[in-house]
Amino acid sequence: MKKKAIAAAVTILILICVSVILVFKLRPHTEELPDVKDRPYTEEPADDEERPNTEEPADDEERPNTEEPADDEGRPYTEESSDVDEELVHKFSTELYDSAEVYVPNEETARRLLRAQGELLRDEDRDEHVMEVERYLETTYDMESVYLKDMEPEIADAVKDACDHMYGRYPILNGYLTNITVKDEVTEEISAISLFETETFIMNDSYEDIYPMVIRKQILLRAKDFENGRRLQNMIKINVRDGYWTEGTDVSAVIVHELGHALISCIISDQCGLGNTVYIDGDNADAYSEYNMQQLSDRQDLVKDLCNRAYDRYRNEYGKDGSYEDFCKEISDYAQGLQDDGGISYDETVAEAISNGYVHGDDCVLPAALILEEIDRTIGELQ
Ligand SMILES: [Zn+2]
Repeated sequence: MKKKAIAAAVTILILICVSVILVFKLRPHTEELPDVKDRPYTEEPADDEERPNTEEPADDEERPNTEEPADDEGRPYTEESSDVDEELVHKFSTELYDSAEVYVPNEETARRLLRAQGELLRDEDRDEHVMEVERYLETTYDMESVYLKDMEPEIADAVKDACDHMYGRYPILNGYLTNITVKDEVTEEISAISLFETETFIMNDSYEDIYPMVIRKQILLRAKDFENGRRLQNMIKINVRDGYWTEGTDVSAVIVHELGHALISCIISDQCGLGNTVYIDGDNADAYSEYNMQQLSDRQDLVKDLCNRAYDRYRNEYGKDGSYEDFCKEISDYAQGLQDDGGISYDETVAEAISNGYVHGDDCVLPAALILEEIDRTIGELQ
């Protein structure tokens, strides 16, 4: 029971980054646009749960030595390592799990399990071009599983373009994201057409410890939108018309927005000393806890700092006298990151700035350009 409680707490901590954008904030209106409820990002996981080990000096590179083969940084685990639990891999290649409780011995096994699940999802009688895109993304950007289901080829290409742009501009992303998955329902409460999240996929089955745990960092795309290009385009059109998203937003820009969230998480992960690992055990549990905390709405230190620095320069260096709200609004309405509880999601501001930079290139609005510069500076400081 206790374990269940802990499991629930951990699950709640899943970072939920919903693209409100993607959600209809609007009136019933026109097309047979569905149900989508308003506010998407309400559910801001009720913080805490976890120990308050804040002080975690997000120090140095990763944990000491553990039996961890090669450390994080991408996925250097070659197939030759012999300590993979093949029996477990076999189990995961024959049965689909939403979450599971088993003992996973090491990172390599964890990654093999993620891949096995991806293979299991994949039925082969689908559009060949779409399957090619899946393989391309997995191998080029070191993802464990990309499953685009019955996406139309042009939409799959838009996903590919978004990844090419983001991974090209931010190589640090390589090996960080584990999955891109088209899913029938992203979640029941969150009616976003897409979202980025870090979720607990596997927990230890022991009663004493939830570790080792296996996490996946994924972008989920809602099937009813991403398998219906016309519907998706309509939604985008309406959101653009209402100023919610910037003019020129297309399917790729929507994916770029999610990859923007992934990028921020990736930077946080690096700062916490977690790197790209998917395997959480006693050695990096505190770092993982800190990683989760940093992404809660009231603990968004990194993005808040990015936005503040950019806003500072907007005023002092460029002589603009707009309020912080004006600054965000120049990017898009959604970039204001307004939340139901009156708070601000700086994460959304940054994701929208990244999307704006993608859509408009060098002609993007000043606030977006400044935020992009601050992101580059932050990444530069990591190395
Ligand atoms: Zn978002």
